[in-house]
Amino acid sequence: MSIRERTEELEAQTLSPLAKRSADSAGRLRPEEPDPIRTAFQRDRDRILHSKSFRRLKHKTQVFIAPEGDHYRTRLTHTLEVAQISRTIGRALRLNEDLIEAIALGHDVGHPPFGHAGEAALDESVRALYERDEAGPARFKHFEQSLRCLMVLEDLNLSNEVFEGISGHSKGEGDLTAFDGEPISSLEAAVVRISDRIAYMNHDLDDAVRSGIIREIPDEFRHLGATHGTRIGKMVGDVLAESLDQPTIRLSPAMMSDLNRLKDWLFEHVYFRYPQVVPEISKAKALVSELFLAFAEGHELAPAGFEGVQGALDYVAGMTDRFAIREFERLRVPQGFRASSL
Ligand code: MG
Repeated sequence: MSIRERTEELEAQTLSPLAKRSADSAGRLRPEEPDPIRTAFQRDRDRILHSKSFRRLKHKTQVFIAPEGDHYRTRLTHTLEVAQISRTIGRALRLNEDLIEAIALGHDVGHPPFGHAGEAALDESVRALYERDEAGPARFKHFEQSLRCLMVLEDLNLSNEVFEGISGHSKGEGDLTAFDGEPISSLEAAVVRISDRIAYMNHDLDDAVRSGIIREIPDEFRHLGATHGTRIGKMVGDVLAESLDQPTIRLSPAMMSDLNRLKDWLFEHVYFRYPQVVPEISKAKALVSELFLAFAEGHELAPAGFEGVQGALDYVAGMTDRFAIREFERLRVPQGFRASSL
């Protein structure tokens, strides 16, 4: 019996009957020989962790422009916080922690540079081209790009459960109650989706205070806890109390209502306000549009494999903040004359 088979047997003995077992995986698009040591989900998690798209997350803005301060979350630290919160919930519910980790680590790799500003820039630009030419991609959404990144550009051939888990992760500004009744591929995917919310609301609140855009946490949310850690702990505890041995992952009605109000409050006071008070955000948005259009319209040559509108989208979406700035400088900012070149 191989080590993988022993691990699969351990899963059968210890995981909840509601968990996804790696031995029951629906498989990969291109069938592969199983690994002698790792289960299918462990293998997927490792593939994602070792991918270039994953490493680039460290230089991508989450919400607050990262180079302004070393303590702001980046897309990478957000991803790790989501992975950690979801593993805590997953282990407590005896779900498949490897599947959870794979989904969490891969869920945001499709984010473009400069956070929401970059995503809005690409979406608006690609829609305008589509309306004009009636061809090519019609929109840009980071969660669709995450799948494209992992399955097409990186060609990781992930198993069906990881693919499905990543494809269902984003609800954007939508109401959190939309979790209920929605088809979900696995409880593991549902855990990551709820943990993504818990992570971003808490760390954005924390970073918002750090940035000075808000002075303190409003009184109406004080009962959620006095510190970042206690707030996360309370939300995780709420999910566990509601979801233990249940075929669904959910928050209590009271916590759901708190989090919906907190989300609306963050949109009004942080996400919509930050671009208005920080001029760098609109500059970043213009930079991303300019780069995308330059490559998409063929005014500038993208590297081999990134041709056309889809290629330009893939190329620019994959850039880190600093690479995008360097590319913009190379293409649009006149370089000084050097004595040696005269
Ligand atoms: Mg996320």
